[in-house]
Amino acid sequence: MKVALVTGASRGIGRACALRLAKDGMAVVVNYSSSEAAANEVVEQIKAEGGEAIAIRADVSKLPEVKEMFKTVQKTYGQIDVLVNNAGIVRDEYLLMLNPDNLDACIDLNLKGYFYCAQQAVLKMFRRKCGTVINMSSVSSEMALAGQTVYSATKGAVNALTRTMAKELAPYGIRVNAVAPGFIMTEMVEQLPEEKKEEYLKAIPMGRLGTADEVAGIVSMLASDACSYMTGQVLVLDGGLNL
Ligand code: NAP
Repeated sequence: MKVALVTGASRGIGRACALRLAKDGMAVVVNYSSSEAAANEVVEQIKAEGGEAIAIRADVSKLPEVKEMFKTVQKTYGQIDVLVNNAGIVRDEYLLMLNPDNLDACIDLNLKGYFYCAQQAVLKMFRRKCGTVINMSSVSSEMALAGQTVYSATKGAVNALTRTMAKELAPYGIRVNAVAPGFIMTEMVEQLPEEKKEEYLKAIPMGRLGTADEVAGIVSMLASDACSYMTGQVLVLDGGLNL
């Protein structure tokens, strides 16, 4: 049985990815940092549907916690086949009002956290010469949205690290790709002011937000053999927003 670890899987896109990869037949590690009850619910749902899952608490912006999480994965399942680097935060602020704490929080989680988890996962994949890493980017990596300098900088970096990691790891049978969603109906978007949401909605040619399940479908495809010759790509899923 393949083993997948999804960071930030207690809700939103991560939760949908965890449920989908479990349906695909993988044992799933549901990572969270504070929402224990929600993460346990995801595990229970997977088990109720006949799947296998465990929840592990780890703040993935902290290297010692990431190392502990991967030790637990190794002890429990003995391998890791798929890493979905998904946990991320948005702290929208205009440059002149930028709070350095928010700058650090975004870079620590959206960027350093991706490196920490990728490094730990690849250390295990490397020995078996197989595995895949899927990084959650954003349409903001390519599209300028005022107020998102920090968030878009972290997501632009995710695209860059995806391509470079893909090149480094291809000779070892490890594929690295990214998904760049547009506006997806999760708490991250729900918390935006109503007028902002309406403005964004008007800009989407398909006239609606995306769903977490639609993102999970792409993650499932990237993790599958259907994409066995695909690496270093950033797949955009935005209803035409950035056309
Ligand atoms: P969300 O609903 O806010 O969920 C975030 C998840 O990350 C939660 O499970 C949360 O769990 C976890 N998390 C937060 N900080 C963490 C940490 N330090 N360590 C481990 N887990 C942590 O977010 P989402 O909308 O699903 O977004 C998921 C990813 O997709 C992010 O990378 C985001 O940038 C990207 N994305 C989202 C959209 C969108 O429209 N929603 C668009 C493009 C890209 P806890 O509560 O336990 O911390």
